[in-house]
Formats: sequence, C-alpha cells, structure tokens
Amino acid sequence: MRTLREGSRGPAVQLLQLALNRAGAGDLALDGRFGPATRAALTAFQEEMGLRPDGVAGALSHRALMPWYTGYLTHRVQRGDSFWSVARRYGAKPEAVLAANPALAPDSLPLGAELTVPLPFSVVPTQIDCFAELVGFCVQGLAARYPALHSGSIGRSALGRPLRSLRMGRGANRVLYNAEHHANEWITTPVLLRFAEELGRAAAEGGTLLGTPAAEILDYADIALIPAVNPDGMDLVTGELREGRAWEEARRMAERYPQFSFPRGWKANLRGIDLNLQYPALWETARENKFALGIVSPAPGDYVGSAPLEAPESRALYDYTREFDPALTLSLHTQGEVIYWKFLDLEVPGAEEIAALFSDLSGYAAEETPYASGFAGYKDWYIRQYRRPGFTLELGRGVNPLPTRDFEGIYERVRGILVLGALVT
Ligand SMILES: [Zn+2]
Repeated sequence: MRTLREGSRGPAVQLLQLALNRAGAGDLALDGRFGPATRAALTAFQEEMGLRPDGVAGALSHRALMPWYTGYLTHRVQRGDSFWSVARRYGAKPEAVLAANPALAPDSLPLGAELTVPLPFSVVPTQIDCFAELVGFCVQGLAARYPALHSGSIGRSALGRPLRSLRMGRGANRVLYNAEHHANEWITTPVLLRFAEELGRAAAEGGTLLGTPAAEILDYADIALIPAVNPDGMDLVTGELREGRAWEEARRMAERYPQFSFPRGWKANLRGIDLNLQYPALWETARENKFALGIVSPAPGDYVGSAPLEAPESRALYDYTREFDPALTLSLHTQGEVIYWKFLDLEVPGAEEIAALFSDLSGYAAEETPYASGFAGYKDWYIRQYRRPGFTLELGRGVNPLPTRDFEGIYERVRGILVLGALVT
C-alpha cells in the first residue's frame, strides 16, 4: 500500500477507512477522502498498536492493519491457549477457527504452532471500489480462511502486477471463470471473489449453494477463477493510479480518442490494447472492423494490438486455459443483462440448452453475439478451439463503470449461473 495521509484520495483510502472501521477504531464514511476524521481514527489505531501516532499510514501502519485488509491474523499458540480462548480474544467464531486450521486438534494445541484466526467479517468488501492490491489481499485472505481455496497467479500484467487466481474443488469437471478483461467493468471482480467466499464458507460450515451441498460441488468440480484479467486498467479507472509515467501515457492515448471519457471510459490494458480483442479467433477480421471505426493505434478501448496475444494479460489467460483444459468457461463483462453463447455459426453441443438454463436462473436474455463484437474475444477463441460451451455474461445495466450500489443486485442475479456452471457439464 502506498503511504496515505491527509489529502490522499482513492480506493486505497476507502480500504484504509474500511479497515479502521473493522478494527473498531472508527465509524468512517467510505468516501475515499482522507480528511480529519480518517486521521483521528488512524491516530487512535496507531496508539492502540503502540505505533507512533502521526496520523500517516506508512509501511508500519499498513503492516499493523493487514489483518483488517485480509480478514485474518496468525496467532502463535502460547501456554494456556485453547481454540476457544483464542477465538474469544479476537472476536472470531470458534467454528471458523476450526475450519481454517483443519490439521490441528482443538483440544491439544501444540505450543508455538501458528493458528489462522478468521476475523468476524467477510473478506471481500463490495461497498468500495476495487484495485489491484485489494484483489491480492482478498485472494490471500480467502485462501488462508478457507482451506478449500488455493491461491496462485497465472502471469503478470503489462505493469508487472501478478494476475491472481483462485482454485477450488477436487473433481474432474474443470471450469474456468474469468472477470474484468475490460478495465471499466471491474465490478465483475468482486462478483467472482464473493462467489469464492460463499463457496469456501459453505464448504467450511457444511452449507449449501442453490440447494446443492458445497461439499458436493467441490467433489464434482475443479473451479479456476481469474478475478482480474486487467489489474492495471482497474487501478486507472478507479483512481488508484492517478499520476506517473504510465498514467501520463494513458492520458495521451485518451487525448487521441476523445470518444472515450478519461479515465472512466478506459477498457484496455495500460499499453492501450483491448485484451478481449487479442485471441486467435479471426483476429484479422476484428482488426478490419475496428480499423474501419478509426481505432488504429493504442487507445482506451477497441484497439486489437499489432498481433494476437501480444498483451501479456491475454497471453497468460490463453496459456493457462490450454494447460487447465476446462470443460466450460464463463467470461464476466458489463453491461446489458445478456448471455452470449455462440461464435459465428459454430454449434457446440449443449451450449444453447445451458444458455437457456442460465437465462432461467438469472432473467438475463440468451442472445447471439452481435457481428461487430464477434471476433478475437476469449469466448470466441475458446469455442472455436475446443468446441465446448463458453459464455460471455454481460452483467447489470447502466453506464460502465457500474457503481458499487449495483453490486448486490447483480450478484443475486448471477450467483445461480456461477453455481450451475460448475455442475452442468
Ligand atoms: Zn467487456
């Protein structure tokens, strides 16, 4: 986390405010503006933790806040500790502590052992804007709290950030869900992270999703989630990146293409390549279509790049998909409340029927992809390459980026698709 002080702004400040609230140091509005109230709450937190109370969030304060960024802390077992006393000390649910530490016997804790303690709130925040570091905190926290979830990364972005992944389940039915190819569609990222948390928690507590026991889902399927394909673009759109060379270059690209608002209209990666126009599925046709519209150089959106798979983000997802070899893929975008299930006239056995089931669960319309956007996308490549069911889901309605207040409504509509997607093939 960057150093935050009075006058700082952006989603990192929102996360700081949320973390201070979670830690009981404040009751702050999550407005992303570091003012006197945030300073007072941070100072109180610093005093409580024995840090210098300067009201500036530097490296030491961020380290102390880490449990409230990630949703867990690590407790080293001391004489007299029991599962119950440790849970009580941190306000954690004893069942959650048990679930997070499956290898330890609750009535004989070895001295010095490290206990993962889930704190009493959900890991994934959905009321604040998303940014790359927050995705990392969520993936780390989810994997620590829920043993069914495993974190990893599939490569690096243009600016060198890790492309995070979560994997859950031990079944033979492999499915891959990805989100946020497009920067200003970042609300799709917390959708996948929330799904991971819901499934992980249900597995830990013996719960169900859509009437199906989580344990059954995880026995049947092996689910790979790539929650943020375009972390650099996400930071640009949400204002976490607001100065420096990469930001300047992006602003210059946007000046050449004023039809995109800056930065809210940004879709591409930070090299100005549209990551969902990068896959080898009639890429040349996509180039002709977009060049005809005047998008002939790096741009905030719709630039196909100089060759397929030139962008490291698309390349990483392509390589990972080939290695993982999924039976079904879902690609989350916004907006329109539509399910696309076809590539040109290729008929994949079962795809239309699955799209109809998804449509019933969500109320979204199952449609054929419009010709102008029907080339070089991830789904297009996946269907063409594998002849297996691949879907693009256009979540929500409105103008991108959709606001966080739309999150709950969107999630309610699509969670059924996310569950069924793991079971239907
Ligand atoms: Zn999109």
